[in-house]
Formats: sequence, structure tokens, C-alpha cells
Amino acid sequence: MSDPALEYLHDSLLQLRKQGKSNLTASKQALEALLTAKPVANPPTPPPIRAKEDHSGGRSYRDAGGLADLGNTPAPQSVASPLVPSTGSKAERMAALRAIALSCQKCTHLVKSRTQVVFGVGSLDAEIMFVGEAPGADEDLQGEPFVGKAGQLLTKIIAAMGFDRGQVFIGNVLKCRPDMPANESGNRKPRPDEMATCLPYLAEQIEIIQPKALVALGATAMQGLTGATEPMNQLRGRWHQFKGIPLMATYHPAYLLRNQANSEKRKVWEDMLQVLEKLGKPISEKQRNYFK
Ligand code: URA
Repeated sequence: MSDPALEYLHDSLLQLRKQGKSNLTASKQALEALLTAKPVANPPTPPPIRAKEDHSGGRSYRDAGGLADLGNTPAPQSVASPLVPSTGSKAERMAALRAIALSCQKCTHLVKSRTQVVFGVGSLDAEIMFVGEAPGADEDLQGEPFVGKAGQLLTKIIAAMGFDRGQVFIGNVLKCRPDMPANESGNRKPRPDEMATCLPYLAEQIEIIQPKALVALGATAMQGLTGATEPMNQLRGRWHQFKGIPLMATYHPAYLLRNQANSEKRKVWEDMLQVLEKLGKPISEKQRNYFK
């Protein structure tokens, strides 16, 4: 066997068999992604393949790449080692990253509850990346971020900025829907430990795309990205950074759905005007005056 990725797969499966593990799970989506992923030069060491049962005791977790240790959650911005080689085109790198993310087994509770991993969508040459907290029920079913009611509002905000969804990139800090207690509907916020485990995927998406600006949608996304715990009224409207990339914090569109006051819409819009200014985009009088 000459392909290092296949060798790795073979050795990992052998190792699991020696440990007496006979049950592995892989979604249809993950298997398809493995088949369609293009080989990349010098493939990296992928994250370890894990058996279905949880040996973490629900507490700490350390993977082979040192990406996450929930017993001692790293500062969100400290994620380092690339998951895929930095050689190859953006499309090749993103496809390789996608294949790894879609077969991720790190959070065993989320692996059990998710319909699919919601990797992210949009242009690899996006100037703006919008970052939410985690997929909700709609996104979990459709496999695309921000497709529910909040997502429809985000799409309108993007259009008002002069873009369509396909021109920007939309993703979440957590790529799996946070699990809910049986018989409970709705969505829960992702926990800091879940976001820290998943952040390397988003960090690498950002590294591949190299947007001119990031927009964190809501305080939870901001916490997942930067570790900031201040409320959004203290974070919004000014520039932060994620690994050197300008990061604007603003309210989550779901907040605007709950609070329909023009004053709140105007705040989000003012934050988006700052983003357009950062990108050097012309702003029309009509755009300047929205929600005034
Ligand atoms: N809220 C988020 O933060 N992300 C989604 O994808 C959908 C709703």
C-alpha cells in the first residue's frame, strides 16, 4: 500500500481491532466525502479514528495533534497545527479539511445526536466570513449553516451589504448541532469545551480563505473565537482580531428576531457599515441611512 493516508487508515483500524473494538461509525456523508476528497501532497497525520464508545469519562479529551484538552481548555486563539498541508490549491485544502471534519468523532455525545456535520458554505475567495455559534435543528437536517429563520435574516443582511450568500463564507464555531435532552425541542448554546474542540476546523477554514474581515454573530461565537466573555453590548461596534484578521462582533440575527426594535437593527447595520468600510467598498446614501 503506497498511499500514506490508506496506510494510516489501515494501521488505525488494526490498532482498534487489537484493542477489541469492533464497532465503528461513519455517516454516509463522511464516506462520500472520503471518496470524493482529492489527494493532497504530503498528507498530514489525520485525527485519530475512534471507536463509538466514550472513554473520556465526559471530561477531558486529547487528540493526537494536541488540538484540544478539555480538562484544560486552551485559549481559543491558541489553536496551531494545520490539519491539512498548506500546499495545494484552496479547493484541495478545503476538500481535505472537509473530509476530516465530516468524519470527526471527537465529541462522542454530538456524534450520536447529529444528523450530519455542518461544515460551512460559500466562496473560498470570500472577503468576509460570517461566524455563528453552532447549527440548529434546521441546519442539522439540511447540512448548511444559517438556513432557518435567523439564517434568512442573515441572508437579507448580506444582501443589504451588496453581496449574495455565495460570495461570502458562512460557518460556525461548532460544526455539530448541540445535543438536546430527549423530548426537548429547540436549540442549546454550545459549551466552551465543545467550541474549543471544534475551533481548529474553523481556524483552518479561515487560514485557507484568508478573508479581509470576520464577523462574529453573537457573544457565544465571539467567546468561541476569542475567549471573550463580555456581553455583546460591550463587544460590538469595534474591531477585534482573530489570528491577525480583523474581527467585528455584532448581535446574532436570532437576537434581532426576538427584539424587533429599529434601534437594535441599526446597531447591527452600523457594525456592517464598518465591515464595508474595512473592505474599502463604496457605501451608498441609501445604505448609510438604513434603519435611521
Ligand atoms: N445559529 C447559528 O449560530 N448558526 C447557524 O448555523 C444557525 C443558527
